[in-house]
Amino acid sequence: MPSQFIDGSWVSGSGGADVAVVNPYDQSVIAKVDWASAAEVRRAVAAARAAFDGGDWPRTSGGERGRLLDRVADLLLRDAEEIARTETLDTGKTLVESRVDVDDVVAVFRYYADLADKDPGRLVDAGRPHVLSRVVYEPVGVCALITPWNYPLLQISWKVAPALAAGNTVVIKPSEVTPLSTIRLVALLAEAGAPDGVVNLVLGDGRTVGAPLVEDPDVDLVSFTGGLATGRAIIRASAETVKKVAVELGGKNPNIVFADTDFDTVVDYALTAVFLHAGQVCSAGTRLIVQDSLHDALVDAVAARADRIRLGNGLDPDTESGPLVSAAHRAKIEDYVAGAIQQGARLVAGGRRPDEPQLRAGFFYRPTVLADCHRDMRVIREETFGPILTVERFGTEEEAIRLGNDTEYGLAGAVWTADPGRAQRVAAALRHGTIWINDYHPYLPQAEWGGFKRSGNGRELGPTGLAEYREAKHIWHNTAPAPLRWFKG
Ligand code: NAD
Repeated sequence: MPSQFIDGSWVSGSGGADVAVVNPYDQSVIAKVDWASAAEVRRAVAAARAAFDGGDWPRTSGGERGRLLDRVADLLLRDAEEIARTETLDTGKTLVESRVDVDDVVAVFRYYADLADKDPGRLVDAGRPHVLSRVVYEPVGVCALITPWNYPLLQISWKVAPALAAGNTVVIKPSEVTPLSTIRLVALLAEAGAPDGVVNLVLGDGRTVGAPLVEDPDVDLVSFTGGLATGRAIIRASAETVKKVAVELGGKNPNIVFADTDFDTVVDYALTAVFLHAGQVCSAGTRLIVQDSLHDALVDAVAARADRIRLGNGLDPDTESGPLVSAAHRAKIEDYVAGAIQQGARLVAGGRRPDEPQLRAGFFYRPTVLADCHRDMRVIREETFGPILTVERFGTEEEAIRLGNDTEYGLAGAVWTADPGRAQRVAAALRHGTIWINDYHPYLPQAEWGGFKRSGNGRELGPTGLAEYREAKHIWHNTAPAPLRWFKG
């Protein structure tokens, strides 16, 4: 089947045929897709432009748009198991994680379905008797939605659900590494009744498909999730035509543990914070920052449990963690670990590929714990995006806050303590977009997600996640017009 969806039809792209999509567990080919070229990007944007400028969609009621999103949620539930399996085959994550992703995506569609007909605008007191002044919200226009490989289905849902709820038309470009669940979602959007041209899909890499999409003058808004370097390039490229741009970038997230916290609980959460999806999570708790008196015991316990994490095929129910997404990504992780050890880090778990022969074909790397880490190491400063937990230590609350903020990123972080006053003080002082207290990872469709500092701008989810896709328009109505006589002649 052709892989591009343009103006309501599946069509073949001219940028490449039979491009293999590979399972990172064993490098088997799970699908072949075609890629778009700049020509299909242009056609997709033109279709979205025409559907926005001349079609009904931007002018349908919020209620009707919400009903479409609800139907998509129903279809996702109908096909949940098949979609979860596809996500696992494509990304390598465990089936349990993929099922959770699908449930989360359903919740996101339901949330924006519900919000679509709320808050149409507001009346403003103009301070004059014959003026009706109101602010209304309108869709921005044609939105380019560009996503990364780690949470393909989840990331696109955070964008496409609010974009459509607000009445925009969209051109979606998933990561070239993991496009399959997005193709499936676009098929469900069509099945749910998205009018022709409202939802379009182009596949390909950043250079040949992403860049022309961002540069296209008919695109009004770019919403991007991915790495910092790409985010910078997208902001620069969008400047020429003054597009609205929202970027969700990386993180270097502190997980701060005070000595008064429950030991077993925090050991457990330190592992899930960082090793979920082999650490390929933008909000992964990669920096474990531990109070002195708990430090040694925590390092030992976390290392011992990290060594017991079972790697394997994501479809196998016994598997606790899958592979990394590619050979190139694993090479990067190996480089970070070698560099850290050279700079004085102490390897206490992992630091190597697994021994099991059946895992040799996949891009596996053992969950790794590095103690005695400090701020001058690359592994502390840069986003590694893999199964590496670094440990730093602190004495006082002030020191913990200073370490937690000592990063150019600001996406997420956690604080563990039995003292609620301290928990609130530290949460208030940390410059990150999400702070968990005595927990790690949960998020809600109702609550904003996004980064401080170089973790990005704009917010996804929550009411702000919808506002990103709306323009505010002030309509001033003079209900009793009469000459003003400003000029007397
Ligand atoms: P990436 O930046 O390499 O690619 C992301 C997407 O951008 C892909 O679809 C890619 O094809 C496209 N792209 C690349 N160059 C482009 C260009 N010049 N113009 C337009 N599009 C272009 O990121 P990745 O390796 O796929 O994903 C990993 C990164 O994503 C990590 O840094 C991670 O932290 C980040 N991430 C952030 C969040 C968040 O919510 N903040 C969530 C998930 C992932």
